[in-house]
Amino acid sequence: PGRLVIAGCGLHPGHITAETVNAISNAELVMVVVPNPLSIVHIQSLNPRVENLAKAYGEFVDRQHIYTAMAERIISTVRNGVDLCVVFYGHPAVFVDSTHIARRILLAEGYSVQMLPGISAEDCLFADLGIDPGESGCQSYEATQFLLNYHQLHTGAYLLLWQIGLTAAHLLRSLRLNGQGISAIVQLLQQWYPDDHLICVYEAATLPGQSPRTQWMPLSELENAMLQDWSTLVVPPLTPLVLAEERLAWLGIEADRVA
Ligand code: SAM
Repeated sequence: PGRLVIAGCGLHPGHITAETVNAISNAELVMVVVPNPLSIVHIQSLNPRVENLAKAYGEFVDRQHIYTAMAERIISTVRNGVDLCVVFYGHPAVFVDSTHIARRILLAEGYSVQMLPGISAEDCLFADLGIDPGESGCQSYEATQFLLNYHQLHTGAYLLLWQIGLTAAHLLRSLRLNGQGISAIVQLLQQWYPDDHLICVYEAATLPGQSPRTQWMPLSELENAMLQDWSTLVVPPLTPLVLAEERLAWLGIEADRVA
């Protein structure tokens, strides 16, 4: 019977795990959604039976349609009895629709499905900017979803906005990049943060040895920043954490114990 391993290869060949190398080498067929040509060459050296899923769906179709089409291609291949490994860049469970759709449907049909973790853009971001998400907490949102839904923002924790360069792009049908979507994000962030709050547009290295791009600026300058499809926005904490003193009683301890 067909089976599926969903793996992530990180952002460049230096990020791939031994577990993922094994899964690629042992698969009957490998499908990739990997924008990095070096990573594709590396994967082909591990297994010559590679299909580039991204190529099949062109660039000018609606994104949601592309994700569903990719999931359908994965599902029908496994139903046809293939022992398949699909490789996505970064972490295959992080901000990716098609892997979750394929996993859910194939598991429900009784197929063996395994998802292997990979190094995500967020992992690189923590390392490059020296951020410990455990220090204050960290909120991660997809930029358009953050814009269009009421989220309870915590200004004492980090805020990461993924796909910032594509904010509302599919709704505006514009060629994105610093259009109305970014103005709307700035307008929203101004509800919590002052204009001079320093934020960072982050792009991790996609070649081994390359440096990341980190562009720090006041919030008011975000509309003029250079944004790419692969940029992530980092908003550091503004306010200090506030001790919830009344909860100490739940633990039966006095306030001076946690000074
Ligand atoms: N699965 C991927 C991961 O684990 O990193 C994320 C895929 S998501 C569809 C694409 C978004 O990830 C981008 O818009 C950006 O927010 C982030 N991203 C991808 N590549 C990046 C890079 N080189 N530097 C910073 N962020 C990146």
